Amino acid sequence: MIRQVQKIRIYPTEKQQQQLAKAMGCCRFWWNYALNQTIKTYKETGKSLSRSALNALLPNLKQEFTWLKTDVYSQSLQQTSLNLSYAFINFFQKRARFPRFKSKHRKQSVGFPQSVKVDGDYIKIPKIGLVKAVFDRRYVGKIKTVTVTKDSCNHYFASIIYELEACFLNGKGDKILGIDLGIKDFAIVNDGIKTSKYNNPKHFEKHYKNLVRKQKKLSRKKLGSNSRNKAKKLVAKVYARISNSRQDYLHKLSRKLTNDSQVIVVENLNVKGMVRNHKLAQAISDCGWGMFVNFLSYKLEREDKNLIEIDRWFASSKICSNCLYQMDKMPLDVREWTCPNCQTKHDRDENAAKNIRAEGIRILQSEGTPDSASRGSVRPNLGLLTKALVLPMSLETLSEL
Ligand SMILES: [Zn+2]
Repeated sequence: MIRQVQKIRIYPTEKQQQQLAKAMGCCRFWWNYALNQTIKTYKETGKSLSRSALNALLPNLKQEFTWLKTDVYSQSLQQTSLNLSYAFINFFQKRARFPRFKSKHRKQSVGFPQSVKVDGDYIKIPKIGLVKAVFDRRYVGKIKTVTVTKDSCNHYFASIIYELEACFLNGKGDKILGIDLGIKDFAIVNDGIKTSKYNNPKHFEKHYKNLVRKQKKLSRKKLGSNSRNKAKKLVAKVYARISNSRQDYLHKLSRKLTNDSQVIVVENLNVKGMVRNHKLAQAISDCGWGMFVNFLSYKLEREDKNLIEIDRWFASSKICSNCLYQMDKMPLDVREWTCPNCQTKHDRDENAAKNIRAEGIRILQSEGTPDSASRGSVRPNLGLLTKALVLPMSLETLSEL
């Protein structure tokens, strides 16, 4: 099964907007209530409340606050419990910060883990009814979850996650891509079926050699001399050539990946923890990762697609993408390894790209679309980037939720 996501604009009527506001309010209330209970329990026992323990609180709570019965689809509350229990698992496994209370002044959302149907130009949502929607494409597949969000401009969106048979994928423009950025290969891209590696262009190296040579020449010239000025100009020229060809490459690659996808998942660049190593730092800045993510970000945003940036706690290279076993260490020079738990042979970068993709899907499933406001913005001015945190999950695990 392949998961695809589609984010569409929806146009609820005034009455439906009121109903959605109530449902979103209920989910927010339940999240905050459950979070509070969990904190209490944690203080008393050192343990958090499981998803089923949280759900067990609901019947009594519904007696006390009857609007939890009338104003919201019960499955939406259960989806909230699920999201909260993951938030705690992540916290305990040191992959995430402590879960936060939700504010009504931020983006609002409500999840529908089942019973949503697409009906012509409408989407049918439990308790809300038929809501007008604009579809840019159609999928033949089972709807897994739908998350309805309202942004600060009062625009409504539905993020639909479909389960598709691989044969329904036309392969153009509707993929979820997980990208691991590397040094040996510039980008390793997994689309759920296959992994593609994109090399650093070879001609960069040639340019660099040229640059080093010209810089040496420059250093031998006398200060203030004419020939020094000349040499300076030559160096500047090589710099410009490198910078242009790099930008050109990054534009082309980001264009291609944007065309192929609906959602692109990358690791937050601070993740790599490599920057302290001086040599690597040089290589990284040469690679232009930051510029690349920037290009992706605005190209995706223009087309109302999503970039999900995964937080630095996520140990993409240490986790087995097959069984989720986590290795203690994964030194940089280990390019291939075998999982001691399930014996799967991994290419380091491909495994990382798979994990990154699975994590992006998990975020989409629990939060709809990434929202810079809900977790604190990572990079202002770069569009929709999230600092969403992570529980590594394989697609198999996801389908059991
Ligand atoms: Zn394994």
